[in-house]
Amino acid sequence: MEQQQLDEETGTNFRLDLLSSLLGQQIASGILNYNTIDDDDEDRVPNSCPHPVFIGNSCTKCGQETNGTISTIPFWYIYPRLNVCLKEVNRIRDTNLQRLLSRRKLHLVVDLDHTLVHTRKLYKLSPEDRNFLRLRSKRYGVDYNLAGELGTLFQVGDGWTKLRPFVREFLREASTMFDITIYTLGCRAYAWDMSKLLDPDGMYFDNWRVISREDCVALDKHKKCLDVVLEHERVVVVMDDNEAVWEDHKTNLFKVTPYNYFSYFSPEDKVHDASPPRLSWSQLNGDESGENGVLAMALDKLRLVHQAFFDDNSTVKGIEDYGNRDVRQVLQRVLMKQKSLSKKQKKQQLKKINYNGLARNLQAAHL
Ligand SMILES: [Mg+2]
Ligand SMILES: [Zn+2]
Repeated sequence: MEQQQLDEETGTNFRLDLLSSLLGQQIASGILNYNTIDDDDEDRVPNSCPHPVFIGNSCTKCGQETNGTISTIPFWYIYPRLNVCLKEVNRIRDTNLQRLLSRRKLHLVVDLDHTLVHTRKLYKLSPEDRNFLRLRSKRYGVDYNLAGELGTLFQVGDGWTKLRPFVREFLREASTMFDITIYTLGCRAYAWDMSKLLDPDGMYFDNWRVISREDCVALDKHKKCLDVVLEHERVVVVMDDNEAVWEDHKTNLFKVTPYNYFSYFSPEDKVHDASPPRLSWSQLNGDESGENGVLAMALDKLRLVHQAFFDDNSTVKGIEDYGNRDVRQVLQRVLMKQKSLSKKQKKQQLKKINYNGLARNLQAAHL
């Protein structure tokens, strides 16, 4: 009874409903109905409220203000100004780990720009590219959903976005092995636009699993951090074209070659790769290969990682056995294997990719 009154006062039921719809009931009630914390929690300031979840500085359970005396992690992409204590975060991760592994899944955190898409603001497009887009718009109509031979170009907000070839297949296949979170240092509105573009039917990532710049303001602006992901690091693979932002999670990282569709003509343009293509795909009127391109090869590697993680003799013994495994070790093994491919094998692989790119260009030139 006392509990119910408190709920009404603090609006906890309302939050519970909302969080349940976002996180599932089990986790949501875990967050909001946590009663007491252990006495041995060193992070606690004496006399502060004993609860782990806050909206802004205000405790969701007793309403007490923390005034910044308790260290929390921001989960603003899940719920506005939701801050959760590390201990509670780890408890949620434990629950999630069981759910994840019992479905034979791992977690993939994937970057947007230069990994899944290439976007250029309108004012940053080169005169060539503007002309190119104008011509293509003419050819394919004015709805800008140009599903042409060269892939898919979209006008979104004040920019143009080119989806990386094979991206939809990649997401479809990867989502059978991984729960997927998008993580971008771009702004929230852009991140959501992109998630809708990549996943129009909401099959691969729910809205709440889209992490953007605004969601990380309490953290280092130029870095990405797995603190804001509700999964244990040992089940997370990170796929990104930029190594520098993942300094703290190098062993989780699966770096992919950056995708550059539009041309770079201004010196301010930053390309993470040391050797950007001299001519952009738009200048070549071509595109990266789909079936033999970067995303297809990345998918192959993710398959190997997934397989190596799960397909072990211990499958029959039950899920607890996966609990001790670390996907970071598996990932490093798979990446090392790739490194040790003979020069000849690599050359052959590259030849295949270039050939496909070239074939596309030639085909495109005759469009
Ligand atoms: Mg990127
Ligand atoms: Zn409290």
